[in-house]
Amino acid sequence: MTTDQGSRRTGSKLADRVALVTGGTRGIGAAISRSLAGQGATVAMGYGRDHERAQEFLAELQQTYPDGAFSVHPGNVATADDCRRTIQDVIDTHGKLDILVNNAGITRDRTVLKMEDDDWDSVIQVNLSGTFYMAQAALKHMLERGTGRIVNVSSIIGEVGNIGQANYAASKSGLFGLTKTLAREAVFHLERAGKLQDNSIGLTVNTVTPGYVNTEMVEAVPEKVLDKIKTRIPMARLADPEEIARVVHFLCADRSSYITGQVWGVNGGMDM
Ligand code: NAP
Repeated sequence: MTTDQGSRRTGSKLADRVALVTGGTRGIGAAISRSLAGQGATVAMGYGRDHERAQEFLAELQQTYPDGAFSVHPGNVATADDCRRTIQDVIDTHGKLDILVNNAGITRDRTVLKMEDDDWDSVIQVNLSGTFYMAQAALKHMLERGTGRIVNVSSIIGEVGNIGQANYAASKSGLFGLTKTLAREAVFHLERAGKLQDNSIGLTVNTVTPGYVNTEMVEAVPEKVLDKIKTRIPMARLADPEEIARVVHFLCADRSSYITGQVWGVNGGMDM
């Protein structure tokens, strides 16, 4: 790993790349934005409601990387029109989109017997449909250019399920099928257009599945429940958001072009 003179960059794997991270201004998304910026990428960050937090985080990135280009884009990923508008805003602002990280996500936990229609619908809409709308709009642009990276943030809960999280588990499992289909279709369209070349960095789509990560989302989990969870994690601790982010920037690198349609666990060994 190299540290560029005069900046806080940790490398230059993503120099000249433009990335959009949904929910990119706090929690795991903020760590992903930082790590992509640390590798030289221009980073656009989507967010839902927290305008103040978005402005604070934008200022933090601008201060850390004064020579970098960053922007924030409000919008509700549960709405197809907002997703299409956000993708277009990013392309208009930065000239192109190389990397899309679908990280925005919510929980509305209740057991199946108590789950209201709105608890189910809103989680599916944000976590699964939001990823689809964003990916669909980004894919069109990436196919025209012949290259791109899409990384979807799922969860170990999508692999193993969890009491009180039928909506969340279903939305996160849904990302596995969506990722694999997007990965196949990307290659299919590139081949048809004569753009599938051996020496190209290609257009890949992958999923990262974090275990339990230290963020505000997990702050909602009672201490007693967290202690119980830790006993099920071979590493016996939660992940730092940076530990998820480094896998995302690895998958986004040009040299990761042979990795597509994959599910990458970052969970302290929880699913062994
Ligand atoms: P978080 O701290 O709650 O942050 C969620 C982010 O998503 C926020 O930036 C939020 O924006 C944005 N967001 C939420 N709803 C949105 C909407 N409708 N439209 C646009 N943006 C929206 O969450 P986190 O813990 O960092 O989790 C990030 C991702 O990792 C999620 O997909 C989550 O499911 C996944 N994950 C988390 C864990 C964990 O332990 N934390 C484990 C596995 C997977 P605003 O703040 O502006 O509303």
